[in-house]
Amino acid sequence: MRLTTLLAAAALLALAVAPARAAYTISHVTLIDGTGAAAKPDMTVVVDGARIVTVTPSAIAGAPRGAVIDGRGRFLIPGLMDVHIHLAGWRWDAKHEGPPVIDHAAAEAALASYIYDGFTTVVDVGNLPENSLYERARERSGAIQSPRIFATGNLITYPGSHGDAMAIRITDFEKDKALLDRHIAEQQPDILKLTYDEEGWGTRPMITLMPTPLLHQIIQYYNEHGIRTTVHISNERRAEEAIYAGTDTLAHPVIQGPVSDNFVRLMAAKKTPFATTLTIGESYSRLAEHPEYLDTPDYVAAFSPAEREAMRTTTRAAYQARTWTWWMKLMTPICQENIRKVVAAGGVAALGTDQSSGPAGHREMELLVQAGLTPAQVIKIATLNGAVFLGKADQMGSVEEGKLADLVLLNADPLADIDNTRAIALVMKNGVIIDEAALPLAGGPAKRRFNGR
Ligand SMILES: [Zn+2]
Repeated sequence: MRLTTLLAAAALLALAVAPARAAYTISHVTLIDGTGAAAKPDMTVVVDGARIVTVTPSAIAGAPRGAVIDGRGRFLIPGLMDVHIHLAGWRWDAKHEGPPVIDHAAAEAALASYIYDGFTTVVDVGNLPENSLYERARERSGAIQSPRIFATGNLITYPGSHGDAMAIRITDFEKDKALLDRHIAEQQPDILKLTYDEEGWGTRPMITLMPTPLLHQIIQYYNEHGIRTTVHISNERRAEEAIYAGTDTLAHPVIQGPVSDNFVRLMAAKKTPFATTLTIGESYSRLAEHPEYLDTPDYVAAFSPAEREAMRTTTRAAYQARTWTWWMKLMTPICQENIRKVVAAGGVAALGTDQSSGPAGHREMELLVQAGLTPAQVIKIATLNGAVFLGKADQMGSVEEGKLADLVLLNADPLADIDNTRAIALVMKNGVIIDEAALPLAGGPAKRRFNGR
């Protein structure tokens, strides 16, 4: 069956309230399975329902099951994962008075851009629960085409500490335990996000830091409820303290300066996954200096013409005027080298952007290649390592038998050029082919799709 015919069939299928269990055979495809193994030519992958059921050389594959997707000349990778986002979908009112304004359409356009760009999982690590948890419920009920959403709900911090405008503020473990219990019961966080950063670097003044024993107590409490944790840090000392306070992951790499050899060895020994988050810091100078990126197809799809115009004018001017823009431009190569060193030593990086769009995820991959990592390493960072970060590597993150069928079929080789992860032929999540014509993209689907064959 031609791919276009198959996609038309998938579009009809998507109209059904509960899509029927379907099977697909992706035949004669070059497989890059996400584990870091070498690419395997001429493989056949069978999906039945939500799961990958067989992965075999085509020569020994049995009769195809379900619809056949011709993988000849194409490349199959696991669905991409962004483990550090803050989903768009709310804003302060113009005067910064009153409660924030929730905009579900904006959230769902951002989610559409992720899935359109091959991201089948996102992790929201701090948001208004009315935004992120609402969309998580919509995603889980099948009401929207969206990446899988894992979310912290509110982040947790110490009064006056980093991120406290949108956080639950904890001063004392015993005294404030009821707030933690409420967070766990009402928000059902998939992962807890704490902040542990006194700032005092770049152009930022010093602020209050959460006491380390309190950090430890909160982490332990969530772990005892079966919930993993991630901690926002920006320097080596606080990263190390967060690790010894028991955190499961770090929400950022070290960015305040070059890491020591001791820290590199620590990250390799502990294998504490960290989100890479280069894109947020680099995005300011990129817009200031190279706004033409806004005209590339994935940005045209992800943002409306009016949004792109606002970025090109108002936002760009604001970034150009801000010292933070140029500070972060200076620090980006230092952070890239920190990531490269930790990964080279055996540490576990997972792709994160600290942004809210699919194109940002692809920018993160470019910046990781620019850091000196190979495309093969970057694909693992963008897939399996995201699942490791979440503690879900037994369920997702690679193209292996028994795992969830989150897959991206590419028209060009991503190992030859990481930008070929944008050459998407189709995206499958949970065994269902995404109907991209029905996605509520702010800019509408770009022309790049299905041009290859
Ligand atoms: Zn963040």
